[in-house]
Amino acid sequence: MKVYDEVVNMVKPKFAYVHLAACSGCEISFIDNFERLLDMMDMVDFEYITLLKDVQEMPAVDIVFIDGAPCLQSEESVKMLKEARSKAGFLVAWGGCSATSCINNFSRGGQMAQPQHESFPQVCRIVKVDAFVPGSPPGPEMAYNIIKAFVEGDTEYLRYLTTYEVGGFACGCDLMKNIIENALCIGCGACAMSCPTRAITMVLGRPCINWERCVKCGACYAQCPRSFLPVPVMDRMMEGL
Ligand code: SF4
Ligand code: SF4
Repeated sequence: MKVYDEVVNMVKPKFAYVHLAACSGCEISFIDNFERLLDMMDMVDFEYITLLKDVQEMPAVDIVFIDGAPCLQSEESVKMLKEARSKAGFLVAWGGCSATSCINNFSRGGQMAQPQHESFPQVCRIVKVDAFVPGSPPGPEMAYNIIKAFVEGDTEYLRYLTTYEVGGFACGCDLMKNIIENALCIGCGACAMSCPTRAITMVLGRPCINWERCVKCGACYAQCPRSFLPVPVMDRMMEGL
C-alpha cells in the first residue's frame, strides 16, 4: 500500500489527535498508556494533541486519530474533520463514536449547552477513513499497537482494522449472529457492561438480549473483543501478557 511505502522513507512520522463530539473517554484511554506514551513518542512525534501539547492548529501529519463524531449542526466540527483529513496521510477512526457513531446515532438534540446539535454521523460518512477502531473506549494498548504497526509497516495487523465492515452500523443482532452463533464468545461480559439501556444480561456466561430494550446503538458489538479481531491477531496481542 502506498501509505506504508511512504512510512519506510520517513525519518519519524508525525502524529495528531483530534477530538470531536464525545465524552473524552477514548482520549483518556489513549493517555492511559502511561509510561508507554514515552515509547510512542519515540516512534512518532506528537505534533497535535490537546491533553499533552499546547498547539492551537493541527499541522500536516502522517497519522491522525479522530476521536468522537462530527456534528452536522456545527460548521466548526465538520470543518475540523475535513481539515484533519486533508492534512493527514493515514486517518484512524478511534473509538465507537468515531468508527460507528454508536449511541450518537440516536441523538435527538435538545440538550444544553447546544440544544440545536442533534446529528452526529460516523466519521466515514464525511471523509475517507483508513482504519476503524470500535470500542467505547478501545483499550490503551490498541493505540500503542496501531502506532507501532503503522511505523513498522505491519500491514497484517492493520489489515483487520481497515475493512469497512467494522466501521458500519451494528446492533445486538450482530452480536448474536456473528459472535454467539460462531462460538466466538469468551463470556467476558464487555457487551453487557457497554449497553447503555441495560438490555444485556449475562446468563450462564453468555449474553442474553432483551430486544424490547435494544435501541440498536451497536455499542455491544463494537465493544466485544471478538467482533473484529481474528484469532491470530488476538493471539499476538496476548503474547507476553
Ligand atoms: S443490546 Fe444494548 S448495546 Fe447492543 S445494540 Fe442493543 S442497546 Fe446497543
Ligand atoms: S463482549 Fe463478546 S465475547 Fe464478551 S461476553 Fe459479550 S459477546 Fe461474549
